[in-house]
Amino acid sequence: KKKMKYCSECGSETEKKIPEGDNRERDCCKECYLIHYSNPKIIVGTIPVKDESILLCKRAIEPRYGKWTLPGGFLENGETVSEGAFRETLEETNTEVEMGDLYAIYNVPQINQVYMLHLAKVVADDYSATSESLEVQFFQEKEIPWDELAFPFVPMTLKNFFIDLKKDHYPLTTHTIERRKES
Ligand code: ZN
Repeated sequence: KKKMKYCSECGSETEKKIPEGDNRERDCCKECYLIHYSNPKIIVGTIPVKDESILLCKRAIEPRYGKWTLPGGFLENGETVSEGAFRETLEETNTEVEMGDLYAIYNVPQINQVYMLHLAKVVADDYSATSESLEVQFFQEKEIPWDELAFPFVPMTLKNFFIDLKKDHYPLTTHTIERRKES
């Protein structure tokens, strides 16, 4: 049997239907008629660079516990993309980066996510593991643990970055990632 869903406003049962004037199914409250929209989530992050090395984090949380990733996480209400990326980087590496330009956008439509990654400079000498990362470490291109990276966007971003680094030119690019169905 289908799981019952409830209205976040009044607690009554909701039903799936297409609201008048709309073109797709939403969870609609049977009592107060509130329509519960569900839209993609924005994940913000950075590529923290210092002297041609990139600061990566070893994940201390699921999914992909123990795998290396770029610092990032969900954008919060009230934040700009850049502010969110700065905050997530601080939360995962304990360092306050100098934010640079937006560098890459990844659409992941199958899981309703959009990733937005900014370039960033690591300007302080202090960085460390946090409750969200087991280890934080700088990697040069030849040291990147390619087989131990957490998500498809991480190797894609790193490969593009090291190509652009050699040209010292960092154009914004947009990508779409097809996710395999996880069973
Ligand atoms: Zn309601």
